[in-house]
Amino acid sequence: MSKPNETAVQRRWDWPYPIIARAEGIYLWDTEGRRYIDGSGGSSVVTAVGHGVKEIPAAMAKQAEDYSFYPAHVFSNAKLLELADLLASLAPGELRNHCKTRMTVTGSDATDDAARLARQYWMVKGQPSKHIILGRWQAFHGDNIFAVSISGLSARRRMFTPMFRDMPKIPPAFCYRCYFEKTYPACNLLCARVLEDAICQSGPENVAAFIAEPVVGSALACSPAPEGYFQAMKKKCAERGMLLILDEAQTAFGRLGSNFAFERLGVVPDLLSLSKTLGGGLPLAATVTSDDIAEDCRAKGFMHPTSHVSDPLPAAVGLAVLDVIAEENLNERALVMGKYLQDGLLALQQRHEIIGDVRGYGLLQGVELVKDRHSREPDAALGRKITRRCMELGLSMNIVSVGVMSAVWRIAPPLTVSKDEIDRGLEIMDQAIGEVLAEGGA
Ligand code: PMP
Repeated sequence: MSKPNETAVQRRWDWPYPIIARAEGIYLWDTEGRRYIDGSGGSSVVTAVGHGVKEIPAAMAKQAEDYSFYPAHVFSNAKLLELADLLASLAPGELRNHCKTRMTVTGSDATDDAARLARQYWMVKGQPSKHIILGRWQAFHGDNIFAVSISGLSARRRMFTPMFRDMPKIPPAFCYRCYFEKTYPACNLLCARVLEDAICQSGPENVAAFIAEPVVGSALACSPAPEGYFQAMKKKCAERGMLLILDEAQTAFGRLGSNFAFERLGVVPDLLSLSKTLGGGLPLAATVTSDDIAEDCRAKGFMHPTSHVSDPLPAAVGLAVLDVIAEENLNERALVMGKYLQDGLLALQQRHEIIGDVRGYGLLQGVELVKDRHSREPDAALGRKITRRCMELGLSMNIVSVGVMSAVWRIAPPLTVSKDEIDRGLEIMDQAIGEVLAEGGA
């Protein structure tokens, strides 16, 4: 571990992070020569194609040699156009070759853009009162001040609430800790039916859209919604004159075994936000909208020009990333390895009472650590201690706080991970849990 740094502001200001020296495949090395498995694909599912993939620096260098920036108010660039065409050709359902993409920087920006487009759409449609974006508690759509207002991750928003106009939220679709204390399918999808209540409370004339992640990543650690949930939400949005925004920051491009998670949900969103994997480590995000919505908004143009929209360097990398995913058939690999990982985690659960829940899909898996499996009482301190032990043993993991007290591992290694590497990761988790419990827990 290095000394805490005095001048650079890092994620935790006071934490003596090891300093990274190099990365390759699923591994990271620090400056002391220690090797770690990257158990979370970068801290937030960013490095899906793995580290040190040669095609990425090659694409970056080629583009930088040609030009790395251009005056976007008077020129276009070929990589941007190529990437937008590629995304349109990959998009499923009615969006295939009938959508438009706006490229931007971070996932938070893409959320913002989706919300702005929803607002602009209703203005153009002559319904200027529609401005509310309904969201969900325990959901995360970014850290910009607006993105935070529609996100329901308490720790990231509480301090800032006086600074934004809070948007209404409904409870999450979270079967392990069901808000309504019901069980699927007897619940009859109450978590979906409450959308109607929220619409009535806000007034349908005021509601522009509903936003959700297909599988909640950061705020619920890999929690998929129950079967039928998204179809019910899409139907309600259509009935009530609202747009459906899907935030696929964590789920797009292979992690769930397909280019887009919504392929599996049986719904097509009106607006879609993408980021993380797409940039292969560079900041690149995108907001995709159907041709119909884009056509309606075209009249006024999209009124949100910033310095780093449509940049060629990340677009060139985005093309290289999508190429690697297709060439190496990583979508299929994510399903096979995801099943292998989930089976391994379920076996680990048999050995350790403190593993309350194993959930997720593909290579986006969550492991909730609890005091005991029957009470489901959360134990964040224990979770943090085991996570630190994993790091000492060579496995870097992302621990997510779900609600206020609980601790869940979000396990999302690069999609290139092998069975042997998964086995090694599972061994480390097993050893770390055993050792910390033997020492008396948290
Ligand atoms: N949406 C989701 C679903 C995310 O998980 C995140 C980041 N964890 C974001 C948006 C924000 O992305 P960024 O950190 O690139 O701003």
